[in-house]
Amino acid sequence: MEEISKFITLRNYIQIGMPTVKDFEMKSEKIELTDEENVMIKNKWISVDPYMRARMTEKKNYKPPFEIGKPMEGAAIGEVIASNSNKFTKGDIATSQYGWRDKFVCNHKDLKKIDAKNIPIEKFLGPLGMTGHTAYIGLFKIGELKKNQTVLVSAAAGSVGSIVCQIAKIFGCKVIASTGSDEKVEWLKKELKVDHAFNYKKVDNLVLHLKSLAPEGYDLYFDNVGGNFLESSIFRMKNFGKIIICGRISQMNETKAGTGIKNMAHVLVKRLTIRGFLIFDHENEITNFNEDMTKWIINKKIISRETTLNGLENTPLAFIDLLEGKNIGKMLVKI
Ligand code: NDP
Repeated sequence: MEEISKFITLRNYIQIGMPTVKDFEMKSEKIELTDEENVMIKNKWISVDPYMRARMTEKKNYKPPFEIGKPMEGAAIGEVIASNSNKFTKGDIATSQYGWRDKFVCNHKDLKKIDAKNIPIEKFLGPLGMTGHTAYIGLFKIGELKKNQTVLVSAAAGSVGSIVCQIAKIFGCKVIASTGSDEKVEWLKKELKVDHAFNYKKVDNLVLHLKSLAPEGYDLYFDNVGGNFLESSIFRMKNFGKIIICGRISQMNETKAGTGIKNMAHVLVKRLTIRGFLIFDHENEITNFNEDMTKWIINKKIISRETTLNGLENTPLAFIDLLEGKNIGKMLVKI
């Protein structure tokens, strides 16, 4: 069985600044099942994620740069349309790292079969996928979350942030959520039931604002943005507080080098722990996460939302929209 696969590729590396749709192009190639472990998948949903920005430069990172002219990789979920493998049959649903394309052929070892249990399949790219796992590992393993703590979350209406807020609420914590639009503030308050949510773009003095929302100080800060927000949070942490460095999206498209954290004296005097982590180091720590998250979703303790663009050709735009904060919840492309 031979098919045409359409895929998105980078035209050129984007060293600094915000990408534009002109940095990407669509190409196609013939695909077919060649060996006995081959499976052909038609993607249904493609995930766009901030970490991909680092792979669009030539710089060495924890994942290698995307190859110019080659299909871009990333999480996706799709349906088996042909299979030589005895592990997969037509109609099976599987996740892969073969994103940014409509169809592909791969070895069955590159696929993870999904048993959706009445959960919409796109949730396996959000709360039940890498971003939900990031929230879970970040809070429990890196931050050692405890009941009734005061927790600060940035990029709180995004895919990772919205799950962090809700897990912390399940644990009886006071949750202060920062985000970039009034619509997101409303969603965080009304649907996710955080204790306080605010639009950081409208705050003049962030340190004083953080103080007014939690005069007692913060036990834990889940940092998705880095930069000035991180520095401001340090002033408001409690003694022995923990800062989980999950992301640095405010710095990703910077055109000049950052100036660094200037208040390290507070880290010392308050005996803070600041710890970064990458979810790729925790891929095997999945059992408790899968069980807890499935239960929370079924019991409606965790809700999730997607912002969706349609069509493979709109994947670059979806990625740019994500960096510009146009998403509420998980940013996805529906194929
Ligand atoms: P989100 O769904 O949170 O989308 C990104 C959000 O970042 C935007 O919606 C926007 O929301 C916010 N943002 C964009 N620019 C800025 C800025 N200049 N300052 C502050 N906020 C900004 O993405 P994810 O949930 O997928 O990822 C969240 C963070 O977690 C990212 O930093 C990502 O790199 C990181 N991450 C880390 C992992 C790890 O292994 N450590 C794994 C997965 C994600 P707003 O409107 O609030 O500005």
